[in-house]
Amino acid sequence: MSTMSDEQCNATLAEREEFSKAMSDVPLIWDLLNTEQVFESPIDINLSQTTPLDLPPLKWENFGIPPRKMKVTNTGHTVILSAKWGQERPYLTDGPLVGKYVFSQLHLHWGTNDMEGSEHTVDGGHLPGEMHVVTFKSCYLTQESALKEKDGIVILVYMLKLQEKPNVVFQRLVEALKDVTQAHTSKKIEPFALSYLVREFVVDYFTYCGSVSTDDCIHYVMWLITRVPIGVSSTQVNSLRNLMDGEGKLIQRNFRATQPAMDRPVLHVCPSTSKYSTLLPVPKPDSTTSREDVIKIYSVERFYIQSNDE
Ligand SMILES: [Zn+2]
Repeated sequence: MSTMSDEQCNATLAEREEFSKAMSDVPLIWDLLNTEQVFESPIDINLSQTTPLDLPPLKWENFGIPPRKMKVTNTGHTVILSAKWGQERPYLTDGPLVGKYVFSQLHLHWGTNDMEGSEHTVDGGHLPGEMHVVTFKSCYLTQESALKEKDGIVILVYMLKLQEKPNVVFQRLVEALKDVTQAHTSKKIEPFALSYLVREFVVDYFTYCGSVSTDDCIHYVMWLITRVPIGVSSTQVNSLRNLMDGEGKLIQRNFRATQPAMDRPVLHVCPSTSKYSTLLPVPKPDSTTSREDVIKIYSVERFYIQSNDE
């Protein structure tokens, strides 16, 4: 996939398909974005209703390189971790992706208590929080311009799962929270490689296309949801609840309600039977769907996307 240049940004569907076919069974997935209906996110992930699909492994570049600067910001809606690198930023390619998707920021969603907080639900149940790693397609140069494009934004989703011990990397972010309790404040922190927090996954994730709406427009998002959650302590999640919004009120609930799935396809990419994939039950390994089946699914489904991230 390294031959895939940024010029592919403006490739027609036919060109993309040709490229995809040449590379393997890649995506078809982007076809989902070329339709009329609006599907909102987040959604419930119901394993029994996902469609297994084999794709080339996702590739992660530069995530192991520590940035030059790193900061934690309270936006009044969430807390963001952002960074600046002395060289090329971390980016993703391959898997379902056509082109390079560069890291923009990561942020968190949480609730009033540990029984809620995640945006996506798993078989109807919430986890206590959810981390979103926002990436945008490099050929659009900025996240702002990428937001206007159907294939501009890909968000990686990591569920937060409670564990007894605090997560030492997550703690770096937690320690900065006391300095950003007020909305629109930032705190510089000691830079660390993103790969410590953003665990690299190459197979065994879910993907679907959903949207994020702001006041006057709809942004398209492809979601990649890893089955392996991030372990954090209850105390660490609780520290997020001390942050305040622009009116000085505590941000205790910044997740959106799940939207009806509307029969949209949710793909389970390269299902694994790994015991470390603890987010959901292990799928049956012999259920991989053929390319023909997937084409059939996509030809009847109409896609779009909607919801409000930041
Ligand atoms: Zn988000």
